[in-house]
Amino acid sequence: RAKSAGGNRFEIADPEADARAITRHGLTTALPAALERGEFFIEYQPLVHLGDGTVHGAEALVRWCHPQHGVLGPDQFIPLAEHTGLIVPLGRWVLQESVRQARYWQERHSDGGPLRINVNLSPTQLHHPGLVADTVDVLERSGLEPGALCLEVTESALIGANEDLLKPLRQLAEMGVDIALDDFGTGYSNLANLRRLPVSVLKLDRSFTQGMQRHPADPVDLKIVEGIVTLAHSLELAVTVEGVETGAQAEQLRELGCDTAQGWYYARPGPPDKLHALSMADAV
Ligand code: C2E
Ligand code: MG
Ligand code: MG
Ligand code: MG
Repeated sequence: RAKSAGGNRFEIADPEADARAITRHGLTTALPAALERGEFFIEYQPLVHLGDGTVHGAEALVRWCHPQHGVLGPDQFIPLAEHTGLIVPLGRWVLQESVRQARYWQERHSDGGPLRINVNLSPTQLHHPGLVADTVDVLERSGLEPGALCLEVTESALIGANEDLLKPLRQLAEMGVDIALDDFGTGYSNLANLRRLPVSVLKLDRSFTQGMQRHPADPVDLKIVEGIVTLAHSLELAVTVEGVETGAQAEQLRELGCDTAQGWYYARPGPPDKLHALSMADAV
């Protein structure tokens, strides 16, 4: 509310907006030191095969343990890190740490189950010239085979992508790294466009899974998912669904032909030893 009519526009009082701006500013300036001090950590959420419920791999999800604000989720700081470019060293750290963790799981997993690791890439990382070299370096140093790594890129980051932007992804795909199109269905990419992208996995956005929550599920939603799965499979893409919260959803998605799933129904994101226990339980 304006303090006085006709007064200085800058005096319009919105304490909440001020607080948000201060927090945003404070968080942004604290990011570099946070990385140096080791305030970031990674939680892992399993991806399971819908067919038999066994663990296929895990997605690495970064968190920030802020000394004043407590644990912050990626939605609270990834956009800031994107904006300042800190996402490049932060993303490199996430990649290095989660690839190392995946290698550790593989070594401990007695029957050598092909445990895979999914890591999110943001648009700035895609544009960074060091992406391929950094990824090769991380893989070589850890000993993880490229085929066990899946890089997740959002559909919106690839909309209208030209060959220059796709080239590093193509190079990685040629090495055997899987590229997943994350949050698929939320952007407006032309389905036919999928053919020219070097992707091997579609991750159906949570909104589709949520649409199935209703009973009975909307038949149109079901048809859409069925159509996407059919198209994806005809293009030799695997389909992962996110946000599976109930057994009924899992069953429905399995019937629709989805390959793998991720969601609270199976497990929330958690510390690495939790996933280790889960995959070891499968192995027995
Ligand atoms: P995303 O890649 O689509 O990750 C899935 C998000 O859905 C995660 O949120 C996860 O905790 C949440 N989720 C998983 N299962 C369920 C479920 O059953 N129900 C519901 N309601 N939610 C579920 P989170 O961890 O908050 O991450 C949010 C986003 O932040 C991620 O979305 C990803 O885009 C981004 N992000 C996370 N880690 C990184 C990172 O290391 N680098 C970059 N660039 N982005 C990251
Ligand atoms: Mg993701
Ligand atoms: Mg996603
Ligand atoms: Mg999502």
